[in-house]
Amino acid sequence: MATSASSKLNKAVKHQYMDLPQGDKVQAMYIWIDGTGEGLRCKTRTLEFEPKSVEAMFRDPFRQDPNKLVLCEVLKYNRKPAETNLRHSCKQIMRMVENHHPWFGMEQEYTILSTDGHPFGWPSNGFPGPQGPYYCGVGADKAYGRDIVEAHYRACLYAGVQICGTNAEVMPAQWEFQVGPCEGISMGDHLWIARFILHRVCEDFGVVGSFDPKPISGNWNGAGCHTNFSTIDMREEGGLKVIEESIERLAKRHMYHIQAYDPKGGLDNARRLTGYHETSNIDEFSAGVANRGASIRIPRTVGQEKKGYFEDRRPSANCDPYIVTEALVRTCVLKEEGGEPTDYS
Ligand code: ADP
Ligand code: MN
Ligand code: MN
Ligand code: MN
Repeated sequence: MATSASSKLNKAVKHQYMDLPQGDKVQAMYIWIDGTGEGLRCKTRTLEFEPKSVEAMFRDPFRQDPNKLVLCEVLKYNRKPAETNLRHSCKQIMRMVENHHPWFGMEQEYTILSTDGHPFGWPSNGFPGPQGPYYCGVGADKAYGRDIVEAHYRACLYAGVQICGTNAEVMPAQWEFQVGPCEGISMGDHLWIARFILHRVCEDFGVVGSFDPKPISGNWNGAGCHTNFSTIDMREEGGLKVIEESIERLAKRHMYHIQAYDPKGGLDNARRLTGYHETSNIDEFSAGVANRGASIRIPRTVGQEKKGYFEDRRPSANCDPYIVTEALVRTCVLKEEGGEPTDYS
């Protein structure tokens, strides 16, 4: 199995250095989303003191306390947000709807790959047995790469990421973690940091975490990022009515959402949203209670209790959570219509 050279360096030697006291200095790792809208980059600076109130700051689970991970917005030479900095506009929109208390929960699916791009643990010249036993599976013949999942989960908890669960997925070497519920802008912040932590954990193990929405074509499930959404009205008595009204609005704005739900304006999702493998067809909008083949699913318990939240199953695994959450708020709370987002400036 192809793994990285770095992962084979002697970790006991590394720990000898990591155990050295660091004095009163703090290491801050600055993290930002690169121009592709998918890649993450990072660099480190020494701080003279421990920062207390930086937005989007997390504990660093790799260097540990008092060191920090800081998620940054990218600005241009003129201090204006870069075109690829989608946090900026998301934050403005979230501010407009603060009193609706929008909550999100995102189910991040991903695939563990060897450094040669082959799914982790798959036979080098072929395929594992067909899908069926792997989803939520246990045992060496069913769960491929659980070490990554366990390390990532604990590292997220340490960091302060609002991670709420994890499970093995339908395709072997594919997994999911859930982040939420998160209010407003924090959804994007927490999911991006959780992705960074995943890449970093995978790096330590010498494998690669992929958010490609369809890493293996054919009869293998793709990877999405189901986005669960509610406002305070939906969570209160009679909320199902508000949920249904939102779904009617979403039905009329399907293509706007498809464009927002992967970094290539729908091209990535075209490989995944086929109408098979528990997905809807990319060209059609559909909704239903407990329906995993629909664009929007109302969870069974929400249908019964007549309040709660709904799940948008369309976002791709490599979506930008700032765009996805912004689009949901624009359509469902700001009640925008038509193919273009409204300019409020
Ligand atoms: P599924 O049944 O689709 O696999 P999961 O259990 O994987 O669902 O994920 C459910 C997600 O819904 C979690 O991220 C959770 O935080 C989120 N969630 C739960 N309640 C709400 C709510 N009221 N509003 C928004 N998101 C919610
Ligand atoms: Mn799930
Ligand atoms: Mn899933
Ligand atoms: Mn789901």
